[in-house]
Amino acid sequence: MATTILSAERDPMGAAISDYFNHRKADRLRVFSSQFEEDVIPVKELFRNIQSMPVLERTALQMATGRILDVGAGSGCHALALQEMGKEVCAIDISPLSVEVMKQRGVNDVRLTNLFDGTFTETFDSVLMLMNGSGIIGKLSNMPDFFRRMKCILRPGGCIWMDSSDLRYLFEEEDGSIVIDLAGDYYGEIDFQMQYKDVKGEPFDWLYVDFQTLSLYAAECGFKAELVKEGKHYDYLAKLSLA
Ligand code: SAH
Repeated sequence: MATTILSAERDPMGAAISDYFNHRKADRLRVFSSQFEEDVIPVKELFRNIQSMPVLERTALQMATGRILDVGAGSGCHALALQEMGKEVCAIDISPLSVEVMKQRGVNDVRLTNLFDGTFTETFDSVLMLMNGSGIIGKLSNMPDFFRRMKCILRPGGCIWMDSSDLRYLFEEEDGSIVIDLAGDYYGEIDFQMQYKDVKGEPFDWLYVDFQTLSLYAAECGFKAELVKEGKHYDYLAKLSLA
C-alpha cells in the first residue's frame, strides 16, 4: 500500500476545507471519474455537526469506546464530536491543509499520517472509517494488507467501525434485474480525481464494498464482520473485530 502524504499543490479537498474554514465559504469541489459523470462534494457537508450527520455515522460515534483512531479525519467533524462526548480520539489524515484546519478547530490530537505507514505504531480500541470509510482501502486486492495493518493497530478486544455502500443499484435495469460483468473488475472499485479552483489532485482508487464481500475478505483475514445498521440507500455500518 502507498504510504504517501499529499503536497499542498495536489490537495484539492484540503484546499477546499482550508478555504471554507478561513472564509466561511468555498468554491465547488469537483469530482471526476472515468466511470461516472462529473459531480461535486458540497464543502459545507465536510463540516457537518453531530445533528446533521447521517444516522450510520452517529451510531458509530456512539458505539466507539476507549482510545479512538479517526482515519482520514478531513475537517475533524467526527473527532470534534467525539471530544464533545468526552471520548479520547486521535485524528489522522494525509492532507497537510486539513491537518492544519483540525489543529485550529481544536482537535487535541492530530497527526499528518498515512494509515498504512508502519512507523505509526500507536494502538487503539476503536478505529473509525467514515463517509464511505472503506474507500481508503482502494481496491479489493488491498484487503489482506488492510487487515494486516489493523492487526497491528487494534488493541485486544478492539474493533473497526466502517461505513460503505453496495453500488449494485447503479447496475439495476428498469425491470429491477441487475446486470454485472462478473469477469470484469469488482463493481465497487472506482477511480476518482478531484479539483478545487486550479488545484487538481492525482487520480486515486476508492473502494465501495457490499457487506457480503467485506465479510468474506474479513473472514479470510481472521476478522468477523457484523452488520450494525443499514442506511436508506444501500449504505451500511459494519463492525469488524478479530475473530
Ligand atoms: N472522514 C471525513 C473525511 C472523508 S474524505 C468526513 O467524513 O468528513 C477522506 C479523507 O481521507 C480525506 O481527508 C483524505 O485526505 C484522507 N485519506 C485518504 N487516504 C488516506 C490514508 N491512506 N490515510 C489517512 N488518511 C487518508
